[in-house]
Amino acid sequence: MSEKRDYYEVLGVSRDASTDEIKKAYRKLAKKYHPDVNPDNKEAEAKFKEVTEAYEVLSDPEKRAQYDRFGHAAFDPNGAGAGGFEGFGGFGGLDDIFDFFGMGFGSRQSRGPVKGADIRMQMTITFEEAAFGTEKDVTVNKYVNCSACEGTGSKSKSTSTCSTCGGSGEVRIKQATPFGSFVNVRTCHKCGGTGKTVTDPCTVCSGNGKVRKNVTIKVTIPAGIDNGQAISISGQGEPGSRGGPPGDLIISIRVQRHNLLRREGFDVYLDVTIDMIQAALGDVIVVDTLDGKVELTIPEGTQPGVSFKLKGKGIPKLHSSGRGDQIVRVSVSIPKKLNETQKDLLRQLQASISENSSNGRKSFFGRKK
Ligand SMILES: [Zn+2]
Ligand SMILES: [Zn+2]
Repeated sequence: MSEKRDYYEVLGVSRDASTDEIKKAYRKLAKKYHPDVNPDNKEAEAKFKEVTEAYEVLSDPEKRAQYDRFGHAAFDPNGAGAGGFEGFGGFGGLDDIFDFFGMGFGSRQSRGPVKGADIRMQMTITFEEAAFGTEKDVTVNKYVNCSACEGTGSKSKSTSTCSTCGGSGEVRIKQATPFGSFVNVRTCHKCGGTGKTVTDPCTVCSGNGKVRKNVTIKVTIPAGIDNGQAISISGQGEPGSRGGPPGDLIISIRVQRHNLLRREGFDVYLDVTIDMIQAALGDVIVVDTLDGKVELTIPEGTQPGVSFKLKGKGIPKLHSSGRGDQIVRVSVSIPKKLNETQKDLLRQLQASISENSSNGRKSFFGRKK
């Protein structure tokens, strides 16, 4: 196990080889070492096994990622990665430790255009802004093209073709392996893959062509967005490199609480309290909604805890039409202090209800003492 060769080396491919390249390399080697064409050849048989094993790992994106990170230990039951990687679950920063020691094996090396990084930020909006949508200006600190050199990185705005890579941004390194020589393509270090070099670096951006700047971006918050949701603004992240597209600006939304209304999905809940006379006789009350105050009819004999629905008074549905409802939940308050006259009136009422009821104990205001 300890003498195991690197899988990439076994297949003779580079660390950043594509799945296609890996497949091609495997086919070639498998044909060469296949037991059918090498009868009774122990060495060929061993090579065939080795090549197949390497292919099985490197052709599977998940296994390949594990291998890139942990090497053979990833699949060795006695190795560091024993039991898959669950063993490291509680450990946390393993990834970081590997990164720290530069043990990424260069697997992240990429050539060609690279998309810019996403910029993430948080925004707090009011309950009403979330309901009906709004427009906000946000200030983002990000890299932009240097205006002094127009992004060229050159004081005279002139660049020349990189002499190391001839303008391709890539260098090809020939690598000798037991299976022959292979060409390994890497990003040119002189020009950083841009294919261009600058002889008179711009003093504003130190020749980078980019400077950090506060940029104000208008953001449209759609109606109906809820707490915890995010808006992605395409192309407003960090610029890409080597001609790649910029990243995105991703804003996660926090919605402030409303002092009366509570949101659940697209419905809005409101608690109101009426007194027992209103509950018994019915009334028209005024309640708050997202659209201002509206009248709500409380029917005669309304029981505590009953809810009324105000159709279409809820939150506009995100990226859709229509609105949720407002649910008004009614609680009934019982007077705590009554004067003698009022008490007498209630006793009269009680007597009257008891007479009409077959069972006095069922009277509206409870049992007589
Ligand atoms: Zn500049
Ligand atoms: Zn170059």
